[in-house]
Amino acid sequence: MRITIQNNQKETSVRVAEKLRQMLTEKGFQLVEMQPDIVITIGGDGTLLSAFHRQAHRLKDVRFIGIHTGHLGFYTDWREYQLEELVESIAKDKGDFISYPLLDVEVFEADEMQDSHHFLALNEATIQSSVETLVCDVFIDDFCLEKFRGDGICVATPTGSTGYNKSLGGAVLSPRLEVLQMTEIASINNRIFRTLSAPLVISKEETISVRPAKGRHIIITVDHMQFEQRQIREIRLSLASERIRFYRDRHPHFWQRVSDAFIGETSL
Ligand code: NAD
Repeated sequence: MRITIQNNQKETSVRVAEKLRQMLTEKGFQLVEMQPDIVITIGGDGTLLSAFHRQAHRLKDVRFIGIHTGHLGFYTDWREYQLEELVESIAKDKGDFISYPLLDVEVFEADEMQDSHHFLALNEATIQSSVETLVCDVFIDDFCLEKFRGDGICVATPTGSTGYNKSLGGAVLSPRLEVLQMTEIASINNRIFRTLSAPLVISKEETISVRPAKGRHIIITVDHMQFEQRQIREIRLSLASERIRFYRDRHPHFWQRVSDAFIGETSL
């Protein structure tokens, strides 16, 4: 079993990482930098997102475990006081995992001579304009649904639906659904300009294409990353063929996770 530990630079995370490294080494596990079977992140959701992007080219070969050292993260299930339990669990591991859908983002630059760029997102991708209003055509497959004007567009995975998507008024979706959700970021709606003005959900057979008006500088975000402003011809967003796999032990049911993150204990 080859294990990588990835932590953020917070004092607690560095300390927990050191302790875990020692415990895993004593149990005879191989700690590696490259090609791990399991990646253990120590920090918050940002640390897990960053580990996911490092491993995005080999998702079939790796499982993720998140330990949170700050406030409760959405993808981080374990706490410092459970390290012993975690090491024991990995020692008895049978390879079980739970997997979730991902978003495939393909970006075509305005210069048709350039190759397109591919990204995978665990949470979402957004398309925004640098200074001016974003003006773009939104297609579902070949059908032009609307001319969008506003701050931007967000397309989220089911597990990402509790992130930025939720703040934009999108629905929380079960990750058992192989779908993507598009939400608007401050669309302009008046007698002249119209958008759907509601979140929409597409199936795994469908693709959302966003074609920005010519000459605009576009900002694309993929999870926690932001790409420089460029002139873009089209962004295609569809359900990826790859999935992310989480270590199964202690990985709570999705709705338990939603309840813990957003509702907590209620007193009637
Ligand atoms: P960050 O440090 O700005 O944290 C954003 C918050 O979102 C953190 O509390 C994190 O725990 C939480 N979060 C991340 N993924 C989540 C998910 N799937 N469900 C519920 N909560 C989630 O940034 P970060 O930690 O690097 O995370 C980047 C993510 O932050 C983005 O992918 C996006 O989903 C989210 N975000 C949210 C808003 C917003 O709600 N207005 C704005 C920007 C980014």
